Amino acid sequence: MLEVKNLSVSYGAIAALHGVSLSVPKGDIVTLIGGNGAGKTTTLRAISGLQRAQAGEVIYEGRNITNLPAHEIVQLGLAHVPEGRGTFTNMTVEENLQLGAISRSDTKAIGSDIERMYEHFPVLKQRYTQQAGTLSGGEQQMLAVARALMLRPRLMLLDEPSFGLAPLIVRDLFRILGKINREEKVTILVVEQNAQLALELADQAYVIETGRIVMSGNAKDIANNEDVRKSYLGY
Ligand code: ATP
Repeated sequence: MLEVKNLSVSYGAIAALHGVSLSVPKGDIVTLIGGNGAGKTTTLRAISGLQRAQAGEVIYEGRNITNLPAHEIVQLGLAHVPEGRGTFTNMTVEENLQLGAISRSDTKAIGSDIERMYEHFPVLKQRYTQQAGTLSGGEQQMLAVARALMLRPRLMLLDEPSFGLAPLIVRDLFRILGKINREEKVTILVVEQNAQLALELADQAYVIETGRIVMSGNAKDIANNEDVRKSYLGY
């Protein structure tokens, strides 16, 4: 579904990605793990058109989308849930969900999609009239994911969904992401510093260090790799 080939990105004179390649098969959950500043956010931003790539290609569903404007990439069914969530804090939960569907032409199905989001995230239903800015961090992350799903994307990019959340909340969120992948048939590319949970959730995994992919394979094999265990899993 997604092929990233030799992607290079620089911020001025500073090179952040040095020829990153990865592939995301349709229907799978793929994770990109790595430490602080390894290049995870930059990879996602370059895929979704928010950051210019100096070299390399992004092929999505067979189409070269490298450096297309972000709003055109979203229209192709590729949603990006950024680091820091980006919900509209002074709007209610339900208004945020409606806004997620604003570019859709099939307006009749929007109401039932909102109801389906409330089934995936019951806590959002309880709080549908509440301003997003007053939600807890975990609830805001759930809202950010639900809002992205309102686009009916085929591929969803998630930037560090566990950031700043308590372990139990992260576990719950990842369980729901697995369910969404299966039930909504949304392929997922998730970048994470929380390697343990990301490797439990994912089918395939890539490890990135200082802008280079240093390892890739089946998520279970990566989780059992001694170097990964020592560097990222802490045992
Ligand atoms: P984190 O988990 O801390 O967000 P990351 O793996 O997502 O890290 P990136 O944010 O992609 O890493 O950063 C990769 C490199 O690019 C880092 O060295 C970072 O300092 C640099 N970088 C990121 N954004 C900018 C920017 N706007 N200007 C200059 N350098 C940047």
